[in-house]
Amino acid sequence: MLRLLILGGTTEATRLAAALQDWPQLEVQTSLAGRTQQPVLPAGSVRIGGFGGVAGLVQYLQTEGIDLLIDATHPFAAQISQNAAAAAQQAGIPSLILQRPAWMPQSDDRWISVPDLGTAAEQLADLGDRIFLTIGRQELAAFADLHDRWFLMRMIDPPTDGALLPPGEILLERGPFSLEHERSRLMQYQIDAIVSKNSGGSATAAKLQAARELSLPVVMVERPVLPNIQQATTLDAALQWLKMHC
Ligand code: NAP
Repeated sequence: MLRLLILGGTTEATRLAAALQDWPQLEVQTSLAGRTQQPVLPAGSVRIGGFGGVAGLVQYLQTEGIDLLIDATHPFAAQISQNAAAAAQQAGIPSLILQRPAWMPQSDDRWISVPDLGTAAEQLADLGDRIFLTIGRQELAAFADLHDRWFLMRMIDPPTDGALLPPGEILLERGPFSLEHERSRLMQYQIDAIVSKNSGGSATAAKLQAARELSLPVVMVERPVLPNIQQATTLDAALQWLKMHC
């Protein structure tokens, strides 16, 4: 029997673990970073917490006898993806990145593409007073100096004590979000512009459709560069890769 480690924290990782439940030739383990207080737990065994950089991950792969690695972390979880690629290479095991495709703008979208959140903050100068930040809770400090704006900040768990935050309101909710829900949020809070990471996927895409309908600008932070290893964008493609290695 082969041992597969999935680096998780995404819908794709959870679906992959579920799809592998009836593969007798594979023992599946998912690793979560431990950022979310009540995470959705995937099927199979689960471990939680960092490994301690590349060296810690290499040691983990070796002591646990891991044969295959799939990095199905979030497109913006850049550090763990770099670490995973390096660790798999050092441990001499095949690895794959499973990452959903990025969202693409439609002709009637008003997107402003930026490389990072600092640039996103700079872009807000002319985009109105009331901004919807849909970037999670970890990087809100990028907007903390913008005292002349009001921010609606959406996240699953509240920010940690002492986190630097811009003025505004915290909205705790977990997707998936419907179009109706997103439309009503934008109108209820009289939002002028949205800041989003280009996460892709369907769970949080309705805000983009609602913005399109209301002709609101979206400052879209584009994805960090991935390590140069094999990639799959669908569950089926990841399963094909596994079949080749089992
Ligand atoms: P990151 O910046 O790439 O990683 C920071 C450190 O967290 C890593 O070096 C590693 O610590 C640990 N880590 C990250 N993912 C891990 C995993 N699946 N299992 C064990 N350790 C992990 O990652 P992040 O942006 O903080 O994201 C953390 C997790 O949240 C990821 O699993 C990601 O899929 C999920 N997530 C992230 C975002 C986002 O926008 N960044 C959004 C939704 C979900 P060590 O160096 O100690 O091993």
